[in-house]
Amino acid sequence: MTDTLLQLANHPFSAPLVRALGLPQPKVLRRSQGAFLPKELAGRATLLLAAPGGLAEAACRAALADLGAQAATTGPLHALVIDLTGLASVDDLNYLHGTARAAIGQMAAGARVLLLASADAPGVEAAAGARAVEGFTRALAKEVGRRGATANLLYLPAEVASSAANLTGALAFFCSDRSAYVSGQALRLQPGRGLASPVQPGGAFAGKTAVVTGAAGGIGAATARRLAADGAHVLCVDVPQAQAALSSLAAELNGQALALDITAADAGAQLVAATTTAATSGIDILIHNAGITRDRTLQRMSDAEWHSVMNVNLRAVINIDRALDAAGALNANAREVCLASISGIAGNAGQTNYSASKAALIGYVQARSVALQARGITVNAVAPGFIETAMTGRMPMMIREAGRRLNALSQGGQPGDVAEAIAFLARGDASGVSGQTLRVCGQSLLGA
Ligand code: NAD
Repeated sequence: MTDTLLQLANHPFSAPLVRALGLPQPKVLRRSQGAFLPKELAGRATLLLAAPGGLAEAACRAALADLGAQAATTGPLHALVIDLTGLASVDDLNYLHGTARAAIGQMAAGARVLLLASADAPGVEAAAGARAVEGFTRALAKEVGRRGATANLLYLPAEVASSAANLTGALAFFCSDRSAYVSGQALRLQPGRGLASPVQPGGAFAGKTAVVTGAAGGIGAATARRLAADGAHVLCVDVPQAQAALSSLAAELNGQALALDITAADAGAQLVAATTTAATSGIDILIHNAGITRDRTLQRMSDAEWHSVMNVNLRAVINIDRALDAAGALNANAREVCLASISGIAGNAGQTNYSASKAALIGYVQARSVALQARGITVNAVAPGFIETAMTGRMPMMIREAGRRLNALSQGGQPGDVAEAIAFLARGDASGVSGQTLRVCGQSLLGA
């Protein structure tokens, strides 16, 4: 769908009128496309600050250099990394209002701020300080969003803070244009499996087999394209009614199409069969993307509306995973991502079925990630906010317009924004992120 306000606010003739009318003035976001680059941050003026005692400074410096970031001391800054892992008392938070504030004032439009706080802060004051950084990050994100900029937070245990290998993937994502629609988020990094940089000849996912359900359009198609751009062989799955779009996408990506209703009793078995071929052996990346809405207030909701949403969004995911596990179809170090929703975090009137199913996925990935940890498999959820797809295109106009604007960036996201978050979680060096839910919502005010 076209976002007319975004166009008007960024056109020299109409921008003054938008301003005069007091309307939101969303900025055109800087976005990256295509495969990961070995030097993902090349040419980005990046300042690394560390409050006294910072544990991550040396590792961050090494990782940023590895990613080609251009070390800067003054603005305009395209990325600003602030290591606050050394905060020992709440008084140390004054660093945010001093040194950090001065640097934040030098950020370019569309810049990235990434804050780092301790995940295992010793003592009550240090713990309060670490949590204060989260409140600071979320408030800052709302301030800088007006300029198309973002602010996010990583919680790091000491073990991770001192290891460049554990930080590279997260820095590449949060400091680059790939995280254009991710803001105000806090992610926890665990020690990874020390997998080297995933960016190799042929792409980060070269030689990997990916399965994307609901791939015929919207977020699923963008995800299939994104994974293929980094070399994955993609099995594109969607309902038989979507066969034409599915086949054309699979042909475009040199992948495979599988017309399959994921609620079918033998859906898991069909996925095992389709990924155990001469060309593929097991699944390395599994994206449970297919999902539906059947909106109605609870008292008016029919049995069919309740059950269809539960079956597609939740039951099918669990059943397929059971079948894949029984067949040993997920390869070691595989990556699994479920599409949740901010509706599953904030709740939405008229979506008791949908919100329940999406919240369930958040709990599901938490529990499943523990079960699969020993094999190096990560399981995460991505929770999109308002993304411009057929699903949101079907919303009534006024609700659609509100959904678009109620976030720090005053606009909807693109399917590619969600695909980038999924690609980040699918990277080999994202092995330290598991059991978590990453919102791709422009810091939606819903459930904030
Ligand atoms: P979409 O409606 O554009 O695409 C969903 C795809 O899933 C369709 O191609 C559809 O045919 C397929 N599908 C539906 N039922 C299926 C089944 N039984 N078997 C196989 N395929 C099936 O939706 P989208 O906006 O791209 O959303 C993708 C995912 O992201 C969904 O899980 C959705 O709930 C979630 N999500 C989307 C938004 C958004 O703003 N668009 C926000 C939050 C979450």
